[in-house]
Amino acid sequence: MPEMKFVSRRDWGARPLVSPASRNITPAQGGVSIHWEGSKLGEYAHDVCDDRVRGIQRFHIDRRGWADVAYTALVCRHGFVYEGRWIGRRTAANGTNTGNDGWYAVCAIMGQGDKATPEMKSGIKAAVEHLWAKGARRRVNGHRDHLATDCPGNELYTWLRAGMPVGGEPEPPAVEQPLKRMCVLGSREGERQTVAAGAAESVRFAVEFVDPDDLHEAEGASVVPRAAGEYVLWARATLDGLRRGDRVRLRFSRHAADRGFVSEIHGEDRLGHGRALDTSLHTIDRLVPADRLHFQIVNPNDYPVTVVSSEFRLAR
Ligand SMILES: [Zn+2]
Ligand SMILES: [Zn+2]
Repeated sequence: MPEMKFVSRRDWGARPLVSPASRNITPAQGGVSIHWEGSKLGEYAHDVCDDRVRGIQRFHIDRRGWADVAYTALVCRHGFVYEGRWIGRRTAANGTNTGNDGWYAVCAIMGQGDKATPEMKSGIKAAVEHLWAKGARRRVNGHRDHLATDCPGNELYTWLRAGMPVGGEPEPPAVEQPLKRMCVLGSREGERQTVAAGAAESVRFAVEFVDPDDLHEAEGASVVPRAAGEYVLWARATLDGLRRGDRVRLRFSRHAADRGFVSEIHGEDRLGHGRALDTSLHTIDRLVPADRLHFQIVNPNDYPVTVVSSEFRLAR
């Protein structure tokens, strides 16, 4: 068992919690799921790692509205294991209730295009074995085993499926998993988008977490499916300013390059309750490459509403 280089919450400067995450987790029935942070981080130095973990915690609490950083533990490229929600706390990272009810979540602080260092792999393995020793079922999987996502990337996924070999143990053959066509986009942190009174606005996405096929043009609202087929569409938005009892409509829509909006693919109304509204929309639809897909907020009210953060996923 590799030795665990542990960084406690006090050591990394975790924020004190108003209300800690739920204790409702049964890891003896699940196991441990591996994640990555998602965006390309490059070869960062260890003196930024505390700050990165604090940033992830801040994002999860302030932007997602979660009780704490979503992960049980986080591992940097230098192999340090950062204490997240830790043992006995339900996670918020695995994307499904079943995933969060039963599986711990360990996040590799790396993303698309980064390579996992041997130290990082040792750290992940040490964290997983520690969680196994503390009662998690001796199973490990990837976030993508819970739902359609690229997380934790092909390299880590292949490695964990091969039993997490480290330090001289034979490396798994570099088998590229056939990647689902997948696109995960987000708004830039802190960027707000106003939807004027009576307007329909396409939500802009400026951060590409996953988009190997270039389905999304940089800094835009359009996602263009590369091949015809059935796609899962999922989008989330946090809206500010919608008054209690008033409605907005969320919709996926088809657009034409020259004519703009063509038709609604799927839409649903959402009711304001006087606080920031965190809401999502999903559907499955057949799309063709000529479709320019948008996620729109339609505001029928006589005052503007603001998109505080948003996320979009397309998968097939
Ligand atoms: Zn993940
Ligand atoms: Zn580090």
